[in-house]
Order: sequence, then structure tokens, then C-alpha cells
Amino acid sequence: MISIGITERGDAALTKEWHSWVYKNHQPAILITKDPRKLIKENRSLFFGEVKGNVILHATITGLGGTPIEPGVTGYKEQLSYLGECLQNPDFHREKLVIRQDPLIPFFIQDPEYQGAVIEIAKFARDNGLRYRISFLDYYNHVRDRFTKIKEQYPKWAVCINNQNKYQTDLHINHSLRESFLQSLINLGIPESTIEICGEPGMKCTGCISQKDLDIFGISVTETLPKNMQRPACACLGIKYELLNNKRPCAHNCAYCYWK
Ligand code: SF4
Repeated sequence: MISIGITERGDAALTKEWHSWVYKNHQPAILITKDPRKLIKENRSLFFGEVKGNVILHATITGLGGTPIEPGVTGYKEQLSYLGECLQNPDFHREKLVIRQDPLIPFFIQDPEYQGAVIEIAKFARDNGLRYRISFLDYYNHVRDRFTKIKEQYPKWAVCINNQNKYQTDLHINHSLRESFLQSLINLGIPESTIEICGEPGMKCTGCISQKDLDIFGISVTETLPKNMQRPACACLGIKYELLNNKRPCAHNCAYCYWK
């Protein structure tokens, strides 16, 4: 059965562990990174002209780069500006690019700076006709502890974090908060039909590996593919193969990292 490589355990721009899968074995892969500029610059042959590998890039741009939430990540404006340049180039394979906002943090939405960034990124995807995926913060206990420390460094988020800590009962952000965040994206002109939601309970989800991805990879399958069992809300096909060995936060050092 076909396997699709994926880099969920870390950041594809910060490691070459996936190279042999893509360049040597010529296998399809979904590369996930918070530094799409670095990844594309260092692997131009995957994205321009007659490509030398079969990949889809998830450019994860949350709007929090450079803040205490993502201290090692480049700011979103620089990333969007570089991706904008790529999209101007007729040799660039735009179908390989997915804009991913992961995680969205609904309880920060009152912050105008964060709100502005989220909207700008979503509109960038819409205006360039790109695929757009979203997912919300998973508030693990160790993530909550890190956020609690951040509020001392970043007082503007103290009230949001205090309130969230008071009412949070689960790993997932409250369903109505997630729904109202989604609704505000739709109200701002992001067509609902273009939003792919990743692994969110109680919401209609599209897997990281779906029929759409198989079509872009040029893979046709006749057998019924298994469903991924990673978590109950995951809608991925069960044909993904993790390409990274990482088991700790990478150099981006995100506060919400699921690695402890
Ligand atoms: S620190 Fe963790 S969440 Fe952030 S990019 Fe690295 S592996 Fe992903």
C-alpha cells in the first residue's frame, strides 16, 4: 500500500531527515514547517519548474512568530512577503503550497495585533487561491504551565490566560469558543468551503492526507484506504509515515509544543 511521508514531529526546515525519502526514494511527502522561506530556498527543485520530488508544503504561519509563544519563529510578514514573491513566479507550483494556521488561539482574539495577523494570513490564502488549513490550540497541562509563565513576560495576555485557565476543563478549547472564532473568519470574508479544519472534535474536519492530496500527488488508488487512528477527530487517511525522529521541542521552542 502507498505511504505518504509527513513531518509532524518537528519542523521540516530545521532537519534533513526527510531528504532520503523525497530525493532518493522519490516517495511523496507532506512537509510541515514554520519557516517556509528557509525550506523553499534550500529546496527550490521541489517547488519550481520541472520538480525533482513529490511534496506538498504546509506553511504554518500563525501570526505569533517572534512572540514568547513562538520565540524562534520568523514573523509572519516576512514569510508572507517571500511566499508572495514565489507566487509571482510562473514556475512556482502553487498547488504544492498550503497555508496552515496551527494553532489558532481563540482566547487571544481580543488582542488587536493578533487578530490583525490572523486575518491578514487568512486573506493571503484566500486572495491567492491557496489551500487554507486551521487547527486550534491543544491546551495540555504542560502547555498551560508554560502559558502561565508567559503572562509574567507578556502582561498584555495575562487576562486572557487567567480567564482561560479558570474555565478550561479539557485539552481542547471550549467548543463554542472555537465555533465563534471560525464564524468570525467566515464573517470577515473567508469562504467556509475553503477552510480545511484539522483534528477538531465537534467540527467538520479534513485530514492532512485526503483525496485532494492524493490528486495533487498524482496518486490513484483503487483499494479502500484505512482511516488514521491518531486521535478520534483526525480525518487523515491511515497511510501516513512519520519521517522525523525528533522527540523534543525543536529550535523554534514554541510554548504550545506537545513535546515536554
Ligand atoms: S517547538 Fe514543537 S511545536 Fe514548535 S515547531 Fe518545533 S516541534 Fe513544532
